[in-house]
Amino acid sequence: MTASDRISTSVGAIAPSATLAVSNKAKAMKAAGEPVIGFGAGEPDFPTPAHIVEAAVVACRDPKNHKYSPVGGLPELKEAIVTKSARDSGLQIEPSQVLVTNGGKHAVYNTLLTLLEPGDELLLPAPYWTTYPEPVRLAGATPVVIPTDVLSGFRVTVEQLEAAYTPNTKALLFVSPSNPTGAVYSRDEIAAIGQWAVEHNVWVITDEIYEHLTYGDNVHHSLPVVVPEIVDRCVVLNGVAKTYAMTGWRVGWMAGPADVIKAAQNLQSHATSNVANVSQMAALAAVSGPLDAVFEMREAFDRRRKVMYSLLSGIDGVEVAEPQGAFYAFPSFEGRLGTTIAGRTPTTTNELADIFLDEIKVAMVPGEAFGAPGYARFSFALGDDDLGEGIGRIVDLLS
Ligand code: PMP
Repeated sequence: MTASDRISTSVGAIAPSATLAVSNKAKAMKAAGEPVIGFGAGEPDFPTPAHIVEAAVVACRDPKNHKYSPVGGLPELKEAIVTKSARDSGLQIEPSQVLVTNGGKHAVYNTLLTLLEPGDELLLPAPYWTTYPEPVRLAGATPVVIPTDVLSGFRVTVEQLEAAYTPNTKALLFVSPSNPTGAVYSRDEIAAIGQWAVEHNVWVITDEIYEHLTYGDNVHHSLPVVVPEIVDRCVVLNGVAKTYAMTGWRVGWMAGPADVIKAAQNLQSHATSNVANVSQMAALAAVSGPLDAVFEMREAFDRRRKVMYSLLSGIDGVEVAEPQGAFYAFPSFEGRLGTTIAGRTPTTTNELADIFLDEIKVAMVPGEAFGAPGYARFSFALGDDDLGEGIGRIVDLLS
């Protein structure tokens, strides 16, 4: 029996999420008593702030939250997202321009399915977050990958966009701060990219989920705020997962032109209906409350980022850019592929990841998952001691 007798071609072609696979494998080994150190997880190692949890507890007791609610999101949460967008990035929107989704991932899915159709091309700078290409293909469109590297700080240029552009180019997927590279674009770079999109009538989907996690002199700028002419062809993706340590609550949103939001809401109305009300009430407390907790997390991440950067850059044959945002370092191991490590000779970062897990019980996500073979992603959203111990094991293995 062929695969198409059972599973549709489009869904059968979807690869499992490599980032979740690595973190699940590491968690299972840890549960079995192995001293695994996981650099795979894309989530803060902090609990959700207490006032947010408390809001959810109260919401649980209110029978109104036990029922269906509007598909697009609780009106008070949409209002709070409007206020938060103006407060945090200067983005001026109306509630009719907001759709509350089941996490940022669902906002990505809704947006791509709503905007793209067969024949369309989406410009996708690499290294890219592993989820992006899948809904592009599901929509019948083609991801056009534009490679960037450690030497260019993983930032795509207008010249590269121009070279990749065709009359079928419908949209650009832009993310800053970036998962997996930790790159943050400057205001001028964003202005140039936004302007280029305006001139070419290209939509911009901008993923701002790491907006509050920037370090040193790096500052987040929202593309449609820097280039207001794009607003009618721009969708902003965001969520509470990273800013408020709320990955398990599953609340995100998309903000964009009202007609796109309405169409995406129709899609969502047949797929998931409203996001769980209790989670929405927790998100309401999060976005309308203070940012103290994220500033505390940012301090810890900044400390760990510096340690990770300095340890990784000391390894022979490893090239690493200093992470400017999010919570990832993205070193290149190209200089070590083809050399013997613990009696084995890896030729890909997939193989290197297996060696790290087998020999030193360290989990990282190989760059193949992000369209960047030769690289690997290390999250620094883990405890200081584990971070030092884990990178120390790599240093020992490779020295
Ligand atoms: N966008 C980016 C760039 C991300 O890294 C993530 C989480 N890994 C998301 C969106 C989605 O986050 P969530 O679905 O947990 O809200």
